[in-house]
Amino acid sequence: MCGIVGYCGPRRVVPVVLEGLKRLEYRGYDSAGIVYLEDGVLIKHRSKGKLSNLEAIIDDAIVAPSHIGLGHTRWATHGAPTTENAHPHSDCTGDLVVIHNGIIENYHSLREELKVKGHNFTSDTDTEVLAHLIEEYLDTDLVVAIKKAI
Ligand code: GLU
Repeated sequence: MCGIVGYCGPRRVVPVVLEGLKRLEYRGYDSAGIVYLEDGVLIKHRSKGKLSNLEAIIDDAIVAPSHIGLGHTRWATHGAPTTENAHPHSDCTGDLVVIHNGIIENYHSLREELKVKGHNFTSDTDTEVLAHLIEEYLDTDLVVAIKKAI
């Protein structure tokens, strides 16, 4: 079962999220990822395998002056346990990211519809469909777009 950690607060986000993910390791996972907001840009790091693999590639990120972010440990259901399939998943713009636990049963038909509309997929996961579906509905109000997508 996957683990999800989100943080928004006064501490630097990356160590907080990593610590949270470590506490959830007992749930089992096959890959991990983290995203944080820095200077208005979402920065994403992902790795297959243990959290230590993720930690090894984000040395500099530990001190990133970001105070908002998300982390995920994945238990693959749709798509192999690869770096490309690790969460977070982005929409076409990269301005919207999604982390998710569970299964989107009708992901295949949604994916095909979104591809026809021009969305570009970079993973084999059901989760990525949600990022593109929110993007499809996004005008000015994110909450409205999420509700429509759900
Ligand atoms: N179904 C999603 C995937 O395969 C989420 C799996 C999970 O809950 O970790 O990426």
